[in-house]
Amino acid sequence: MPSQSDQPQQLKLFPPFEGEAYTMTLGLRREYNQAVAATKKEFQERWLEHYHAYLNTEEWQARSQAVLEREHHVCQLCRGANGPASPAHHIKEAYRYLGAEPLNLLQAVCAVCHMASHDMPTLEDLQAATRIQLG
Ligand SMILES: [Zn+2]
Ligand SMILES: [Zn+2]
Repeated sequence: MPSQSDQPQQLKLFPPFEGEAYTMTLGLRREYNQAVAATKKEFQERWLEHYHAYLNTEEWQARSQAVLEREHHVCQLCRGANGPASPAHHIKEAYRYLGAEPLNLLQAVCAVCHMASHDMPTLEDLQAATRIQLG
């Protein structure tokens, strides 16, 4: 931990960019950040498209149905207090196995609990899921 008196000297060794050079680095950083944000957004949109297409497949319908039957159509969270269970819910880890989810990562939940418990995957989860998908 440098003492207070050491600091001004340190700063003199590495003076901050000023004027044109500073503006240039700011501009570059903004461009970089925009490019990263655009790529993330595109990736998330494409992933969601893929996900929604999957929810319409017979494979998913069958998997969801198996989960509902396993729980006798009773919501695993409220045990029926808020109504019957609807199509199965992916707990967060399940997104990694999209298309081949182990049934223990799927829950039977009612619409009310589903809304309340929704924990959408983060970008990192989606990227991990995509890596598994692509092999
Ligand atoms: Zn419920
Ligand atoms: Zn869900």
